[in-house]
Amino acid sequence: MIGIIRRYRQQRADARAIGKDGKRWVRSWINIFRTECEACIPQNETLLGELIGEGHYCCIGQSHSYNGVQVIPSVNAMMMREGGLTALSYDPATELVRVGASVSVRELKLFLRDKHCRGLHNSGNYMEQSVIGALATGTHGYGPRGVMADSIVELTFLDGAGQRVTLKRGDPDFAYVALSFGTIAPIVELVLETKPLQPYISISSMSRLSKLDELKQGSIAANWAVMPYTDPEDPVIMLHALAECHEADSVVAHPKPKGGGGRIAAWVLRRYYAFDRFLPSFRRPMQRLIDWLDLKQSERVITDPDDLDYLYDPKPGLKENRAPSITRGLFSTTYTGYNLAFFVPLEKAPAVVRFIMHEADALRDLGFFLKGIISVRELPGLAGPIFAANSTRPMAAIDLFADPRDYAWLERLQRSVMQYEPDTRPHFGKSALGPDFCNALCRTHLDELMRIHRRHYPQGNLMFSERVRAMCDVGRPLPGVAAVDAGLV
Ligand SMILES: Cc1cc2nc3c(=O)[nH]c(=O)nc-3n(C[C@H](O)[C@H](O)[C@H](O)COP(=O)(O)OP(=O)(O)OC[C@H]3O[C@@H](n4cnc5c(N)ncnc54)[C@H](O)[C@@H]3O)c2cc1C
Repeated sequence: MIGIIRRYRQQRADARAIGKDGKRWVRSWINIFRTECEACIPQNETLLGELIGEGHYCCIGQSHSYNGVQVIPSVNAMMMREGGLTALSYDPATELVRVGASVSVRELKLFLRDKHCRGLHNSGNYMEQSVIGALATGTHGYGPRGVMADSIVELTFLDGAGQRVTLKRGDPDFAYVALSFGTIAPIVELVLETKPLQPYISISSMSRLSKLDELKQGSIAANWAVMPYTDPEDPVIMLHALAECHEADSVVAHPKPKGGGGRIAAWVLRRYYAFDRFLPSFRRPMQRLIDWLDLKQSERVITDPDDLDYLYDPKPGLKENRAPSITRGLFSTTYTGYNLAFFVPLEKAPAVVRFIMHEADALRDLGFFLKGIISVRELPGLAGPIFAANSTRPMAAIDLFADPRDYAWLERLQRSVMQYEPDTRPHFGKSALGPDFCNALCRTHLDELMRIHRRHYPQGNLMFSERVRAMCDVGRPLPGVAAVDAGLV
């Protein structure tokens, strides 16, 4: 009870602080990482330029990253999303959109759709983040042009002296700065490619991992979720695949609803997520039951070109405005748990998922349970930014979910995967970042990014997360970090 009251008071205090300068708490999504900071609201670019000259600073978008990449103690925090950098303009001749640092993904999508009948090439499954915060961490959807930062054609940031620097695609440093996880900041404006709004054939199927290749035949984009406590040899999956409408005939037949226990199954599934949330130890028996029922389902929908979230919820309108359904339950773990993600080579994804299932199952007697799904989003193409997950080869994004108190187990699972799959790359807003990623990201590339950083910020005022500093092998802990305060270094 005391905990609930404390949380309620904390949420009210956080809400009251929005839009105001001064001391306040900055919290990552799910509140695992937090710090007290001096918040500064950049009302315009001139003021922002002055503020960054005042001492150590960092930039925060909507503070929705899970891994605390935005949480930097003892510095002035530029609250970019709350500021007045709201530029938003579209050029029909080039089909490019210019967007400022205070604009959210939702605002950008609405502007493009309602005023210009255009959309983004891809996006994550949530829209409240700042566009620049999302792009800076490598936020992705799935399918073609999966990593959002791949659409950037131009960006403008302020250097340490508060001067504007603009880089265009093709400039030598552009591919580094286009996805630089807070090491080049503040980015004040981006110019992005857009695409026409169009319908897709969306197929959601509940089946088995062994059927994956067959089920996604003919599709251009695939996102599958594995139920981690079903049969590890051939787990139950939910596949969501998109195909171009003119390819309708080449999309293979999908499983028909099956099972004598059809009505019982529907009843069980409807209640599954209520159980799952409050009784984690029931996850395994519930998923074993689903496995045993051997459910097969399939749904085909033509998406509405105007639908902002068709990638994650193919039915017209926004998922958030609809009552829960089975599929929505499956894909909504992100709102109730800690989410850790990383990328593995696309062809390794099924084996990595099975490995995680075995590892997680072996931790069950210690009280650890993954949440309802392991999500896999396929990134088949290559992206331009050097630090994009799929900059050198097609990759799969693996998302793990657990109750917030269990987040450290997810870090252990990440480390276990990295031990066997050295090409594992980080999600800069969701992985446990650290020196172990140096090889996969390439030491030379990280050094080059730091060289660009030092060239633009010779004053040393721009600060970035301790874990990023460890990954880039630069600097000592900041004052305010326990290691320094304890005299450890
Ligand atoms: C519910 C939910 C769903 C999500 N879904 C997805 C998903 O589907 N796919 C996916 O890939 N990710 C997803 N994410 C992760 C999320 O998209 C990223 O973590 C993103 O960074 C959050 O944007 P933000 O504005 O909150 O940035 P913050 O978390 O505030 O900041 C992230 C980084 O960007 C830097 N930054 C912010 N603004 C600027 C600026 N103006 N200039 C320079 N640097 C800046 C910060 O310094 C920090 O390093 C999800 C997160 C949540 C909470």
